[in-house]
Amino acid sequence: MKIAIIGTGYVGLVVGTCFVETGNQVICVDVDEDKIRRLQDGEVPIYEPGLEELIGRNTEEGRLTFTSDIRDAIQGAKVCFIAVGTPPGEDGSADLKHVIAVAKSIGENMNGYKVIVNKSTVPVGTAQKVRTEIERYTDERFDVVSNPEFLKEGAAIEDFLKPDRVVIGTDSERAALIMQELYSPFVRTGKPILTMDTASAEMTKYAANAMLATRISFMNEMAQICEAIGADVNEVRKGIATDSRIGFPFLFAGVGYGGSCFPKDVRALMHTAIEHGHEPLIVKAVEEVNHAQKEVLFQKVQKHFGGELSGKHFAIWGLAFKPQTDDMREAPSVVLINSLLEAGATITAFDPEATEEAKKNHLGDRIRYAESSFEALRDADALVLVTEWNEFRHIDIEEVRDTLKQPVIFDGRNIFPPQRMRDAGFAYYGIGIR
Ligand code: NAD
Repeated sequence: MKIAIIGTGYVGLVVGTCFVETGNQVICVDVDEDKIRRLQDGEVPIYEPGLEELIGRNTEEGRLTFTSDIRDAIQGAKVCFIAVGTPPGEDGSADLKHVIAVAKSIGENMNGYKVIVNKSTVPVGTAQKVRTEIERYTDERFDVVSNPEFLKEGAAIEDFLKPDRVVIGTDSERAALIMQELYSPFVRTGKPILTMDTASAEMTKYAANAMLATRISFMNEMAQICEAIGADVNEVRKGIATDSRIGFPFLFAGVGYGGSCFPKDVRALMHTAIEHGHEPLIVKAVEEVNHAQKEVLFQKVQKHFGGELSGKHFAIWGLAFKPQTDDMREAPSVVLINSLLEAGATITAFDPEATEEAKKNHLGDRIRYAESSFEALRDADALVLVTEWNEFRHIDIEEVRDTLKQPVIFDGRNIFPPQRMRDAGFAYYGIGIR
């Protein structure tokens, strides 16, 4: 099938590449001409494990191409995926300006029946808005499908190639059949393709993210209570997760969720609910707990140093909002670093993949960046771990102790065994543990 992917970001690039893997011809479009030039030159603009290799192989064989000419892409495709960003507007609602701009381009360039697929995360009612916008510019026949994406950055390819389910929202049988044909290679193991109305499909994505965010905020609240009463949240986590009704995923206490999805989708869902006259009590609390949790590490640092951080120097390990990605959007590291800098501290940070992104778009030259985890530790009064990259888990802790100016660790992800750290001479602080 000939497919156009409009918006070549984390989602568009992965989705496009994976559809090529199952024998389709894919053209990826973006308004960011520099990004397209880099992709045409064989450079992959984001870090996602396994992606570079797949793109390399498929571009060489000519089945995956990149362009900034949206007209060309739309006219050559039977299925057009809209995968542009839907950032939060000032009031927290999803800003649909990119989606509507793409719908307009599609309307202007229609040349026969097409399936238009909303891959972006969009509020209930957007499929209808896209339809109305396209109809303003064309009399050609088309169908709009809502097909929310559930991939996780860091495991995006695996998630897309082996989804737990595929959700297709449409009232058109013709479009449903085309979508089923497209996705059938990914669900050979018996995972379901769920076909439903567009509003339910749009809502499914928000409900899924709100549920996952709720688990995280719930555990962060349990962590606060554990600390207050002298219990260990890690033991409590195992104690509840072994209950098959609860399960293990998304139950780690930490420094709060970040990234390009949970924060904005939770806020957008709140906004949609309020707009429709419903006060979303749980979702609101999830957001509030998360907001407070991003301050917890800073409060621990302040307490340890008696409120005097001016002139102190800190090593930060991990800048990305989670491991295996270079995505820094709404990363807890940024909140912590801003608080430390405001308090007069200086910082050297190390992240295996996100340094360039941090420098370019989030922190600039307000902090120093190290080339290695140990380089960041030199002359530091303490180590603050924010992102749980695997390489930090297997570090020589005696060497860490001997490199730091003072043996102090604030472990925002509970990756080190507290007793072992204390036996090694560290002042060790985790989240929700004694
Ligand atoms: P992104 O910011 O990485 O990529 C969006 C791309 O769209 C950018 O490259 C931008 O230049 C391009 N763009 C904007 N306007 C355009 C236009 N008019 N024409 C062509 N290109 C245009 O965003 P993302 O993380 O890939 O997310 C895209 C959507 O998918 C969002 O709605 C997001 O909520 C959703 N989503 C994201 C993830 C994730 O893990 N990142 C997972 C599931 C769903």
